[in-house]
Amino acid sequence: AEEVGGGDKEVVKNYFNNSGFQRWKKIYGETDDVNKVQLDIRLGHSKTVENVIKILTDEGSLKGVTVCDAGCGTGCLAIPLAKEGAVVSASDISAAMVAEAEKQAKEQLVVGNGGIAPVMPKFEVKDLESLDGKYDTMVCLDVLIHYPQSKADGMIAHLASLADKRLILSFAPKTFYYDLLKRIGELFPGPSKATRAYLHAEADVERALNKVGWKIRKRGLITTQFYFARLIEAVPA
Ligand code: SAM
Repeated sequence: AEEVGGGDKEVVKNYFNNSGFQRWKKIYGETDDVNKVQLDIRLGHSKTVENVIKILTDEGSLKGVTVCDAGCGTGCLAIPLAKEGAVVSASDISAAMVAEAEKQAKEQLVVGNGGIAPVMPKFEVKDLESLDGKYDTMVCLDVLIHYPQSKADGMIAHLASLADKRLILSFAPKTFYYDLLKRIGELFPGPSKATRAYLHAEADVERALNKVGWKIRKRGLITTQFYFARLIEAVPA
């Protein structure tokens, strides 16, 4: 039944090219025109990004490390990674998101004091199912929330198949506060305004990884009042 009328993916794509783009560009931005809930989500999400950069830089310099940011949004992760010297491929199903990410990258990735400009990420409009190639690290943050676990399994397997060393994922965990379901319901109020939100049980994500020969090495949990994400780093078992 999910595939009728194009399925989740078409709905998600349409949302993130229109009202979802406007909403999330604000949340992921720095302007003051956000409400309390949006500000709280901005804070939670920025913690997720910080955590990912910490996980990645803890292992040493990112100079020359290839990173694929699947579902890059407005470039919140791709841009700081490029600043760290990573060779970033950033893609998103939404052309509006990719255009915004590219614009921000051009503004922010300027020649540094040493006269060396960071490598500009390669931006592409692409859904993550059609990504190919091989990368040291695959990252996919806050994308799985738009897909049921039945779809997420395949996405996880595909992302892992493109990664040499590690895969970093964040998703809204099912176990945590069930009342957050309700809050999410308020944030995603129906087919006209948004897409459905799907929470994922950590055990299901872990099973999907194990099935393709990967294991979880690090787990983190980021929560604010309205934002909650399980962050995991997986490596080949
Ligand atoms: N990862 C970014 C971040 O954390 O800043 C953006 C997160 S935003 C909540 C979800 C993003 O996933 C949107 O930009 C959306 O267009 C993208 N997206 C949703 N489904 C996708 C798919 N199948 N392939 C690629 N991108 C997708």
